[in-house]
Amino acid sequence: MAHKFTTDAIIGLEVHVQLNTKTKLFCSCPTNVAEPNTAICPTCLGHPGSKPVLNSKALEFATKLSLALGCTIAPTAVFSRKTYFYPDLVKNYQITQYEVPLGSHGIIILDIGKLIRIERVHLEEDPGALIHESGATLIDYNRSGIPLCEIVTHPDMHSPAEAREFMKKLLNILGYLGLFDQNTCVIKADANVSIREKNYERVEIKNITGFKEIERALTYEIERQKQQDVRRETRGWNAEKGTTYTLRLKETEEDYGYIVEPDLPLFEIDPNWIRAIKATIPELAEARAARWVSDWKIDETDAKIIAANIDVAELFETIAKKIDPVFSSRWVRREILRLLNDEKKELRETQFRAQELIELFKLLIDKKITDRIGQRIIEQLAKKQFSPAAYVKEQNLVMVADENTLEKICKTIIEQNKKAVQDYKNGEEKSLMFLIGQVMKQTKGTAAPNVVKELLKSLLA
Ligand code: ZN
Ligand code: MN
Repeated sequence: MAHKFTTDAIIGLEVHVQLNTKTKLFCSCPTNVAEPNTAICPTCLGHPGSKPVLNSKALEFATKLSLALGCTIAPTAVFSRKTYFYPDLVKNYQITQYEVPLGSHGIIILDIGKLIRIERVHLEEDPGALIHESGATLIDYNRSGIPLCEIVTHPDMHSPAEAREFMKKLLNILGYLGLFDQNTCVIKADANVSIREKNYERVEIKNITGFKEIERALTYEIERQKQQDVRRETRGWNAEKGTTYTLRLKETEEDYGYIVEPDLPLFEIDPNWIRAIKATIPELAEARAARWVSDWKIDETDAKIIAANIDVAELFETIAKKIDPVFSSRWVRREILRLLNDEKKELRETQFRAQELIELFKLLIDKKITDRIGQRIIEQLAKKQFSPAAYVKEQNLVMVADENTLEKICKTIIEQNKKAVQDYKNGEEKSLMFLIGQVMKQTKGTAAPNVVKELLKSLLA
């Protein structure tokens, strides 16, 4: 049997997700301020005598995420101090959860059915931000105390692509839960990676920002490990150069000297409160897509792509309950998602509503209008709400399938495009498409294209 050599890599991730609360984790400073060092107070600056107060919204969000990841919730939330020195860390310690994480034993399932176990989900505060500018380093403490949720996986991934897929699925869940804002919140990951050829000596790569970077960073690092001696260490990721570099020889978690935070109480977590949060978790993307495929026979890829965005998924469900789901799914994916993608817009930034789209799709299904007219109306529905049926009537956009009418137009077009006609007769199929296009143009997109095609073919035969 042929033996193909592959690198056996082992990858684990620690992902830091910024929760989109209005205020910080332990004080009431706002989280959305741009002007440096203006969203600060004695607590997030670590002034003597200041005391942290837990933001209950952050605890709720982290609990919601833990539940959506299938985690068990700890009966008590315990906070600890992780002690180390760094200029961005005002108190010389970070308040985090160590001994008992808020959530444990979760999973994310990759498309091939592979389970990625989640070891822990915990809450912690972000340090400040160091800004390196023209040879100097500035510190912005606006980030100091921003609530983060850390998600730690078991080393269950075996390729950079799997790590990327994990991140994508996690982001999707965060989007569904509405506790992470793609535009304002930061997501960063640290990755542990080791390969068989180097006896799985573990290297950690810190601070990889953005989920696409994960795959790049890991691909580079695995290649580097194959070619160089590998030692246990912590490396940084230079996104510009696309390389990793040594930061420090690896310290262990125990080196940080954790102590339980004496300024915060233990928070008992009421099972009823957990149940209430659980009840607010929407059906997640994968479950939705699977349901559409089985109940409505939607193409699996279409279903997954539509379900990936909760707003689009909700819109689609509303439409599909009223009108042919398979037809609707094609139009939502090909036209609505394409438009959002092209214009780099979120659904809520457009004027799309189920009501008008149902009306439009009905016109298409009943062959009252051509696809081309449908596409044009969709572009306008993105910008303003109006009745497609009334508009079609008003603008005379009803599909023309009448052969007598179309034959006259076809004859005119043949008359006016002698060269294309000659090319077609010489065997150029493209020229027929050109002629159909001319008829469509002449009829402002209302001519039934299949009728036009047959007419032209018989007129030119
Ligand atoms: Zn503050
Ligand atoms: Mn952390």
